[in-house]
Amino acid sequence: MARRRKLYEGKAKVLYEGPEPGTIIQYFKDDATAFNNKKQGVITGKGVLNNRISEFLMTRLTEIGIPTHFVRRLNMREQLVREVEIIPVEVVIRNIAAGSIAKRFNLEEGTPLPRSIVEFYYKSDELNDPMIAEEHITAFGWAMPQDIDDMMALSLRVNDFLTGLLLGVGLRLVDFKLEFGRYYTEDSVQIVLADEISPDNCRLWDIETNEKMDKDRFRRDLGRVEEAYQEVARRLGVLPEAGPMDLKGPKAMQ
Ligand code: UDP
Repeated sequence: MARRRKLYEGKAKVLYEGPEPGTIIQYFKDDATAFNNKKQGVITGKGVLNNRISEFLMTRLTEIGIPTHFVRRLNMREQLVREVEIIPVEVVIRNIAAGSIAKRFNLEEGTPLPRSIVEFYYKSDELNDPMIAEEHITAFGWAMPQDIDDMMALSLRVNDFLTGLLLGVGLRLVDFKLEFGRYYTEDSVQIVLADEISPDNCRLWDIETNEKMDKDRFRRDLGRVEEAYQEVARRLGVLPEAGPMDLKGPKAMQ
């Protein structure tokens, strides 16, 4: 492929200029970071798997009418997405206490929350992604009240849909992080789901064994990190067994 202009390099992905104006290529790396870059490593094959997992989940979400930036997967590590203006807010949706909420409120990890909780964090490595309220988002001009309502409503729909989809393949959706962007067309602007949805930004526990099947295996040195990502892809039916052409649908669990 001809040399492309690199637009941005993040921790897990590189963004390149797309083939047409208004498009971007997302390249998925094997690099993994945790604790705001303090821990760094490589999860072999992660980029290939996250590309497929995110393609699968974004496509299913599109089918139920969730607007996303996803256009199509291009190859093993790349997907074409629509260019959006990323809102600098990370939306975290939680169903079960784990990670920072477990610490903050002294809850045992695994405690079901009374209802799904949506939290906002300001996307800033420099500041260590501080937790924020709607007030900060509107006062600092990161988004308008209507944008926040849209992000909240979309997040809850994504949560309900993914909770069911993942339960069907034996995985509990404990919590996850979403990012949204503004997609500008000639005469309108729409809030759409952006970034990726993968075991890098979801907590997924096996429903039978409670085994962690996500980036916590890397964060907490639990071992078998590659295997966990592969198992998620396998259950979703997107792990090529004998090469990229050998794709099956999701495998339903009893
Ligand atoms: N998360 C993420 N990126 C971040 C922070 C959190 O993808 O910068 C995801 C994380 O994988 C988990 C959820 O958001 O699924 C909630 O994370 P938490 O606030 O518990 O922080 P952590 O314990 O992961 O630092």
